[in-house]
Amino acid sequence: MNERLAVVGGGVIGLSAAREAARAGWTVTVYDPAPGSGASRVAGGMLAPVTEAWPGEEDLLALGLDSVARWPEFAETLSADAGTDAGLQPDGTVVVATGAGDRDELTALAAYLKTLGRPVESLTGRELRRREPALGPDVRGGIAVPGDPSVDNRLLLAALRRACERAGVLFDERAVTAVHDDGARVTGVSLAGEPAAVPADAVVIAAGAWSSALHPALDGLIRPVKGEILRLTRRAGALPPPSRTVRALVDGRPVYCVPRNAPGHDLVVGATTAENGFDTTVTVGGVRDLLRDAERILPGIAEYELTETAAGLRPGSRDNLPLIGRIGPEGLIAATGHGRNGMLLVPVTAATVGALLGGGVVPEVARAADPQRFVAAGSGAAVSGAGAPAPALLSQEGN
Ligand SMILES: Cc1cc2nc3c(=O)[nH]c(=O)nc-3n(C[C@H](O)[C@H](O)[C@H](O)COP(=O)(O)OP(=O)(O)OC[C@H]3O[C@@H](n4cnc5c(N)ncnc54)[C@H](O)[C@@H]3O)c2cc1C
Repeated sequence: MNERLAVVGGGVIGLSAAREAARAGWTVTVYDPAPGSGASRVAGGMLAPVTEAWPGEEDLLALGLDSVARWPEFAETLSADAGTDAGLQPDGTVVVATGAGDRDELTALAAYLKTLGRPVESLTGRELRRREPALGPDVRGGIAVPGDPSVDNRLLLAALRRACERAGVLFDERAVTAVHDDGARVTGVSLAGEPAAVPADAVVIAAGAWSSALHPALDGLIRPVKGEILRLTRRAGALPPPSRTVRALVDGRPVYCVPRNAPGHDLVVGATTAENGFDTTVTVGGVRDLLRDAERILPGIAEYELTETAAGLRPGSRDNLPLIGRIGPEGLIAATGHGRNGMLLVPVTAATVGALLGGGVVPEVARAADPQRFVAAGSGAAVSGAGAPAPALLSQEGN
């Protein structure tokens, strides 16, 4: 096979799709003016299907559980292909609460997880501090959840880029301005500053929060959801960070702290959630809220250095499920709308795009993410809808 594939977007989703396509025999070019600079660069990196679980989002939970189960093998083969560490950190997650209302919320989460048959261990504050001595006295109780690991998003980006290059994927640092079709199938892409379109036999749109603008079939289906996040570095003499991811509710506000093994960034603290269009300003209030709440949980971080503040745009979909599959003209594939779970869903997304391009079988669990759910039968028009309600709970605002 020597068919040409254009992948629009070089975040974790575009890069992992490009790698799969190259392995399936496609001649692949990734177009991105700033590869690895989007949400994938700022993400916390939790792989948290269980502590993200929420009633009404069972399809997302199933997709996340499938993907998290794929992660160890995905990371192993990626590390081998790239010759660098893919960044998987296998330690689990504790979810902790401060006030009585926060504890009630965790009790509800634990009860829900039990109905799903997930193992959950309820712990007192003292028991939690025995496991994670960095937790402070304001932590009154919580739950330990096995199986929600994390990934260092920047190691992952670097490994994906390297593995793509080794697989022969080409990189073109020009923005795609339009995806063309002849009414039946895609014909190519237009590039910024380039008068003639570049031909392509298939196109994967993986441009994160910017995906909707690239083809009318995606119009209005993806929106930017801003998140601010901090990176802290432990200074000499300061308490070590926790060994696991700590998610917390502090007087009703969710915050998380993800330990990293990377030099210069020992702890990632996130994340705010706001819908302000494509604004990526880091605000004083966002930084203040994250530091205040993280310090309630891990008092020792007051001695850490604040090494980075950043904001990114999660690609939000209407129902919080991603769009992975064929949409619009023949040859057009969407791999976008991963919202707060893009890191988690990398392996299942890559497997699905790989199956669509390589003639394999799409994982059954990924059928819920088929973009056809937004397309009115026969009309080809996107179905409008109010979408998911504004998130308000721990599981909904975490990443
Ligand atoms: C603060 C924050 C914390 C998060 N924490 C987590 C977490 O803990 N766990 C988790 O699973 N997920 C998390 N996420 C979500 C996750 O980061 C995203 O779902 C994921 O990175 C989406 O990847 P992507 O490749 O689709 O998009 P992006 O990484 O945004 O990449 C899109 C790329 O497309 C490029 N692009 C845009 N327009 C064009 C164009 N016209 N032509 C060519 N290229 C274009 C951009 O330059 C960019 O590089 C978090 C997100 C944020 C913002």
